[in-house]
Amino acid sequence: MNHLKIIIIGAGIGGLTAGLTLKRAGYTVEIYEKTSEIRPAGAGISIWSNGVKVLNSLGLGDEIAKIGGQMDRMEYRSHTDKLLNQINLNPVTETVGQRPYPVSRTELQSLLLNAFNNNLETVKLNAQCIGVEQNTQGVTAYFANGYQTSADLLIAADGIHSQLRDYVVGHPVELRYADYVNWNGLIKINPDLGDKNTWVIYVGEGKRASMMPIGNNRFYYFFGCPMARGTIVEPDYRQRELKSIFARWPSPVQSLIENLNPQELNRLEIHDLDPLETIVKGRVALLGDAAHASTPTLGQGGCQAMEDAEILSRFLLTTNLGVEYALKRYESERKERTSTLVLKARKRADMIYGKDPHLTQQWYQQLQQETEQDVTNALSKTILGGPFH
Ligand code: FAD
Repeated sequence: MNHLKIIIIGAGIGGLTAGLTLKRAGYTVEIYEKTSEIRPAGAGISIWSNGVKVLNSLGLGDEIAKIGGQMDRMEYRSHTDKLLNQINLNPVTETVGQRPYPVSRTELQSLLLNAFNNNLETVKLNAQCIGVEQNTQGVTAYFANGYQTSADLLIAADGIHSQLRDYVVGHPVELRYADYVNWNGLIKINPDLGDKNTWVIYVGEGKRASMMPIGNNRFYYFFGCPMARGTIVEPDYRQRELKSIFARWPSPVQSLIENLNPQELNRLEIHDLDPLETIVKGRVALLGDAAHASTPTLGQGGCQAMEDAEILSRFLLTTNLGVEYALKRYESERKERTSTLVLKARKRADMIYGKDPHLTQQWYQQLQQETEQDVTNALSKTILGGPFH
């Protein structure tokens, strides 16, 4: 289909990647973002090879490589500092044909934003979409500032707290609390913290602490601990909170907590979404977290948003049966993959965070028996299930 005008709501990873794939397909794309400045939530993110391949296809391969970390190994250690497992990640790269790149979120967001913005098209800020209407001819988006605009289709890439999700699904949808809190941030690499090319994960007591190398000699670190819903801890007290939760954990974890910048330490309750019965309504499609928010235990949420963008533009470009037909094909192609990953990530979160302590203990045992081949197979299977095999 030629000459489509497309509205995208939300300029996160999903909205911006969709903007790029759809511009590449030759369409007119407008992105509307509610904030006045595009500031990503969270410090780092791992873009696994399936996501990197989407960026490669957009001509952004060299740029993501520049900001990416050199993650050669993955190491599991117990909270008593026993080495449980050490896996070389290069066989995964060999199998799937592309390195993963853990990156700073701010740098990834800038990369995507700069690639999208040019003289003609720039993301429209301060534009909060409050509703949509559609008929057989097109779709209209309404904004809080009174503005309205129409197009052939609209993509709601408005994140986990999507305002447009209920409209698409046809009834109110509740997020599900995953029963744990995540803390994350960035820190300069130094030898007290760990090896600069290793992703280290400390596990024990149904909690975890981890450091992952990103570009420019930094670790993206994160902690997780089961917790009841609704706890609020102000930035000044978060370091103390971590000290108490991870007391007596190994010295790199202590050194991390001691040296992190408390003012840049994010703390958030983790939620996900039960698989939705539909992610498309006529000319409106959900994309990214709006469609399938996941716990971050597989590191696939952002990568799936990128895959959504790729598949959506392919189906629009390769049919002449109309927008609604293309969106239905997008839905049937994406629903199974994303639902499977959301549920897999949820199961993994439950195992990591001790929902059933017996299963968590079993997992600690299993980690010691996992071979490089097991890990390579598991990671490659997820990656090769994406649009670029
Ligand atoms: P978002 O990034 O949330 O973007 C939505 C955008 O829409 C925002 O800019 C928002 O301001 C805007 N918006 C919202 N409502 C409106 C409106 N009404 N009008 C206009 N604009 C609106 N994924 C990975 O692939 N790898 C990882 O390692 C990884 N780690 C993670 C760690 C944590 C702790 C968490 C929480 C998530 C992690 N994820 C990871 C998941 C990943 O962050 C998300 O899947 C991804 O950011 C989703 O992108 P999105 O564009 O769909 O949504």
